[in-house]
Amino acid sequence: MALHMSSLFLRTLREDPADAEVPSHRLLVRAGYVRRVSPGIYTWLPLGLRVLRNVERIVREEMDAIGAQELLFPALLPKEPFEATGRWTEYGDNIFRLHDRKGAEYLLGPTHEEMFTLTVKDLFSSYKDLPLSIYQIQTKYRDEARPRAGVLRGREFVMKDSYSFDVDEAGLDKSYQAHRDAYVRIFDRLGFHYVIVEAMAGAMGGSKSEEFLATAEVGEDTYVHCASCGYAANVEAVRVPTPDPVPLDGLAAAHVEDTPDTPTIETLVAHLNERFPRDDRPWAAGDTLKNVVVMLAHPDGTREPLAIGVPGDREVDEKRLGAQVEPAEVEAFTEADFTANAALVKGYIGPGALGSEGSTGIRYLLDPRVVEGTAWVTGANEPGRHVVGLVAGRDFTADGTIEAAEVRPGDACPRCDGTLEAARGIEMGHVFQLGRKYAEALDLKVLDQNGKLVTVVMGSYGVGVSRAVACVAEGNHDELGLVWPRELSPVDVHVVATGKDEEVFVKAEEIARELEAHGVSALVDDRRGVSPGVKFKDSELIGVPTIVVVGRGLADGQVEVKDRRTNERRSVAVDDVVPTVVAEVRGTASVAGVSGGTGDTGDTGATGATATDGEA
Ligand code: ATP
Ligand code: MG
Repeated sequence: MALHMSSLFLRTLREDPADAEVPSHRLLVRAGYVRRVSPGIYTWLPLGLRVLRNVERIVREEMDAIGAQELLFPALLPKEPFEATGRWTEYGDNIFRLHDRKGAEYLLGPTHEEMFTLTVKDLFSSYKDLPLSIYQIQTKYRDEARPRAGVLRGREFVMKDSYSFDVDEAGLDKSYQAHRDAYVRIFDRLGFHYVIVEAMAGAMGGSKSEEFLATAEVGEDTYVHCASCGYAANVEAVRVPTPDPVPLDGLAAAHVEDTPDTPTIETLVAHLNERFPRDDRPWAAGDTLKNVVVMLAHPDGTREPLAIGVPGDREVDEKRLGAQVEPAEVEAFTEADFTANAALVKGYIGPGALGSEGSTGIRYLLDPRVVEGTAWVTGANEPGRHVVGLVAGRDFTADGTIEAAEVRPGDACPRCDGTLEAARGIEMGHVFQLGRKYAEALDLKVLDQNGKLVTVVMGSYGVGVSRAVACVAEGNHDELGLVWPRELSPVDVHVVATGKDEEVFVKAEEIARELEAHGVSALVDDRRGVSPGVKFKDSELIGVPTIVVVGRGLADGQVEVKDRRTNERRSVAVDDVVPTVVAEVRGTASVAGVSGGTGDTGDTGATGATATDGEA
């Protein structure tokens, strides 16, 4: 049955909601798709729920097509499995915790690795049972520090999560590839520009990880890509090309110099150029080694100082550092911390104070560019003094390297001779070779061909289903409102009856009825006493791709068909309108189904562009 504007549970708003920072949020609220209940917690109104269900349908179809089986776990979970994997503490403030009447502790699932693993362990025991891929489309809960942009980053949100179980790595590779291919099909059908980027693979056995990012200015993820070779990576995952070591013989001896009032790199470089000019070129920030100290807060509550040495022309990137030290959290090194570590001289910290062999014993990790044989100007651990020509591997060592320095446009591509460009995106999906981390923690083993117990190898794959609604809206709107791709539109056709003439309303109903009889869903604007202007504005705001206007022209046997994606209108004989529109909906719908970007890694410009052709 067609929907009717006169009875639809909907109020469109002319004003932007005060808390909306991004277009998708603004428009989804104004067009009556979602309604805020509390920060990061939203109600799906009838139109919004239809779009959400469409995303779910696409995801479900493509998951089923690779043989994954759907199940549904509870959102309310006991804490024990999460204790077994350490995530009860690791998640910290990010999970919603609760007690039952007996005082037992529970949580609202932020993700379900534990439950999937335990259930497979419960039911399966042999290599013959594998491979297995199972998934659910389910509500997740995360007490996000910064819920944002409506349903884009919610505290309650819908995710599709699947897991693959294989007896060995070769099996995992296959399962991973099948999921990756399914994701390409899903995101092509959803209709937005996206790019597949390399992401951080976990420390424990995780080997390969890629993210599907919707390219969007409002995105919180920064990624880099190389126009020459197609390399693309989340900034967290970028690996700096390591230069070759420099031979140590013949390098000048280091010397400590007075450098009064040079607590910053800028003041230091100016001072060096004035007092110790080089023959070959002026000193630059990149000649200095900046040592940054932070405090790590570990999940078990302990705190540990960490020093990071980076070339002075670069900052430490918070996100990159955070990803490296996970699950620990990075906190600032406070005045009190400096007082407690008296050997650290603020502004003049040098390697001599750092590392297991330094005076403080603080763990010291270096940027990969600080290779053996490179000489640096760095702190001498005395106020107003620096050491010049301190050579890595000869005069100082560290406890290891860390990828925490900022990545900048123009940096060398780690794969070819090209340079990197930066862009922003929204994480829409994530495919991840988990390895044996969860299987080991929860003891998921099966008997292999030789009757030997082996630990199962897992993959994990997520799609942000509710986030996708916002993402598609973000990539498909104009100044008038939303513009849905066909597959996601809450209905196929919006039939608008204008004027006072009763015949117009009768005809609009008839058209809607006939469309529905052809399997084409319709929303009829049958409101009496509402001006055509208001009805047009609402139809533009709501964003159904095909709008049929039944109005004055009906007297001459004409109605208007408007394509919301181009905003072009054309007159169609009223008797032809149903077949015309049915063909359009079906034709375009099937084209959208088979068209699409290939989603190749790094193919930023073209990827998904094909999928959204004509939609935006
Ligand atoms: P993010 O980095 O954006 O916080 P994540 O890496 O923590 O996401 P995953 O655990 O990989 O997220 O979850 C799988 C998918 O679920 C993500 O790719 C994303 O699309 C979606 N998702 C994650 N957090 C949220 C949220 N708070 N609101 C809506 N969708 C989310
Ligand atoms: Mg992720």
